Amino acid sequence: MARLDAIRFLEGWVGKFFKEPHVQQAFGFHSLFIGGDPSRVPAIYSALAYLQIADGIWYTEGGVYSIIESFGKIIAKMGGAIHTNSKVDQILHRNGRATGVRTADGVVHNADLVIYNGDVTARNALLPDAPDALPWRFRPLRTTMSAHMLYLGTNKKFEKLLHHTLVVGDDYHGFIKDVTRDRRMPRSNAVYIHAPSRTEPAMAPPGGDSIAILLPVPNLASGDDWTEAEPRMRDRTLEWLESWGLPGLRDSIVVERSWTPLTFRDELLAPDGNAFAVEPSLQQSAYFRQPNRDRAIAGLYYVGGGTHPGAGMPGALLTSQVTQDLIRGDYPAPFTSHATGPTGNLVRP
Ligand SMILES: Cc1cc2nc3c(=O)[nH]c(=O)nc-3n(C[C@H](O)[C@H](O)[C@H](O)COP(=O)(O)OP(=O)(O)OC[C@H]3O[C@@H](n4cnc5c(N)ncnc54)[C@H](O)[C@@H]3O)c2cc1C
Repeated sequence: MARLDAIRFLEGWVGKFFKEPHVQQAFGFHSLFIGGDPSRVPAIYSALAYLQIADGIWYTEGGVYSIIESFGKIIAKMGGAIHTNSKVDQILHRNGRATGVRTADGVVHNADLVIYNGDVTARNALLPDAPDALPWRFRPLRTTMSAHMLYLGTNKKFEKLLHHTLVVGDDYHGFIKDVTRDRRMPRSNAVYIHAPSRTEPAMAPPGGDSIAILLPVPNLASGDDWTEAEPRMRDRTLEWLESWGLPGLRDSIVVERSWTPLTFRDELLAPDGNAFAVEPSLQQSAYFRQPNRDRAIAGLYYVGGGTHPGAGMPGALLTSQVTQDLIRGDYPAPFTSHATGPTGNLVRP
């Protein structure tokens, strides 16, 4: 990274090549959508802009959820079972080795290995009697900002919107500072808008639109009360977008759903209501990120946006490759499952 000059901050790196502020924003904003402040993430994240130019932007028909459905089909085909709406309350272990999980309804699932895909900052809460030893890290992992999401179904098509539209208001830098460093409600606006029917017409009814609006906001560490803030921020965002170029947006809404940091905390179990796991800052990237193998408990592994190599769909999917390689290295021979046995331990034949 040092050889590539990639440990300097992203914004400074982009500034080496572009002087015009809007062009700088266009090449520097990507890290925001994996939870990173462009003025604090290492320039290695400029690879996100490069990949989009070199390889294009990918879209899965039916939306991202179709990837999850495909994984579900593969797991079912291999004889696996998926339990949804089943919250893991505790990761179980004995003699320094993971033995399974206990769900909120008290059911124990024994296992040879446990691979945890939730937010890594919840690790200690799930393993209260096996604290993580962090010899080299002097402070806990810092979580990312959150997002206020508005999912709208409208009876009008907004031709001004592309499949991906980024609308940045005044004071872009102040906006980012508010939601990341200062953890305060943003005083200006900047949203990403997704209108998937531009690529897949079936994503909206004829003459209508399906639109997702993402406004980055601070996570719950800010102390904001989102039951009060939600309607206020909704109105503010929609009013601003109408004045930007989507006249009649509010009147056209037929269906609407909103996600706030409370949704990220209560439904996705991200402890701070954070939207993108842990901040991809220099102190929390590469070697300093959460390792994919637990330091204290054998047989416990991690995947997902908070682990290595990190957030974003491609990054999160690659974490499973890293973890798979670790497990293959740890257990080179095929093993016999004793998951239903008394120890739940992994046994080589
Ligand atoms: C609004 C938004 C837009 C995004 N857009 C893009 C994009 O366009 N492109 C892109 O590449 N990335 C995007 N991302 C980032 C991407 O979605 C994430 O990086 C990725 O989903 C992370 O995957 P994950 O498996 O780590 O976590 P998740 O997808 O959050 O999955 C973790 C799952 O584990 C469950 N869980 C957590 N704890 C427990 C527990 N204790 N017991 C049981 N279940 C539990 C959660 O409910 C959740 O379903 C976006 C993120 C957000 C929030």
